[in-house]
Amino acid sequence: MKLNPSSVRLKLTMEIKEYVLQEKERIKAEVASMSEAPVLSIITVGHNPASESYVRGKKKDSAEVGITAIQTQFEEDVTEEEVLSLIRKQNADPSITGILVQLPVPKHISEKHINETIAPEKDVDGFVLGSKYICCTPKGIVDYLAADGFDFTGKNAVVLGRSDIVGKPMARLLLNKNCNVTVLHSKTKEEDRRMYLKNADLIVVAIGKEAFIDHTYELKPTAWLVDVGINKGEDGHLHGDAEPNLPIAKQTPVPGGVGLLTRLALLKNLMEAKKQ
Ligand code: NAP
Repeated sequence: MKLNPSSVRLKLTMEIKEYVLQEKERIKAEVASMSEAPVLSIITVGHNPASESYVRGKKKDSAEVGITAIQTQFEEDVTEEEVLSLIRKQNADPSITGILVQLPVPKHISEKHINETIAPEKDVDGFVLGSKYICCTPKGIVDYLAADGFDFTGKNAVVLGRSDIVGKPMARLLLNKNCNVTVLHSKTKEEDRRMYLKNADLIVVAIGKEAFIDHTYELKPTAWLVDVGINKGEDGHLHGDAEPNLPIAKQTPVPGGVGLLTRLALLKNLMEAKKQ
């Protein structure tokens, strides 16, 4: 049966959802077999609506697999020292498995100081330099691609974006998987971008620009595209960095794609932290 593009898109959404569900069932069984469940500390500052929604998702995921999530909510005017002091206290508390501070935090608090204060063995977001864990978004993507049968070795991977939390760790992971990795950024010339993308077997786009990769790009029909972007469109809905239904082999949907994989990777990092 020939699928039309919209049913292909629906099928891929289901695939990621099914994969995440299966993985969560596996984690749930593993938690149930432990003498004590991992404990995730979530620290939030202020009331950013997007952050509040992400935190709700993390608490829901944790509850579903039997992980205990405790949230400490600071008001906007909390001092940096108060936040750092709680992190230091939780670093030393053996009952806390992992700590994450939901970013962004207000400007008077330094994200760098936060990241430097979380103990590497408790940094389940994987943000700290020297963290024991892989950053959640790149880890979630690579685990999913591997589970879905993507053969990394010798493939041309192009990563668009070079942020510390997505682009750079993504490129490093793909290099470790033996891909030939090219990283593009805002200073890349358009003609070069088109040339690199034309030869790409795997495209990971993480730039935060709605439908930036569109149908004008010549892409390999066998290419896989992972869309990390989350952009609120004028229609009020969430959109990716790529136009939907590009004529390629596989494209992850937005929403219902990388966001779910990122949340799953956090649970996996927590399990790893508990085992250590
Ligand atoms: P970021 O810190 O703003 O970085 C954006 C990157 O895109 C920068 O490296 C920038 O290059 C690059 N860029 C901008 N314009 C470009 C262009 N024309 N061509 C190539 N590269 C270009 O963003 P981020 O934190 O990495 O996040 C990127 C997107 O992913 C956002 O939409 C974010 O919401 C989303 N995200 C989703 C998840 C998830 O779980 N689904 C997780 C994290 C992020 P320069 O370095 O040259 O400025």
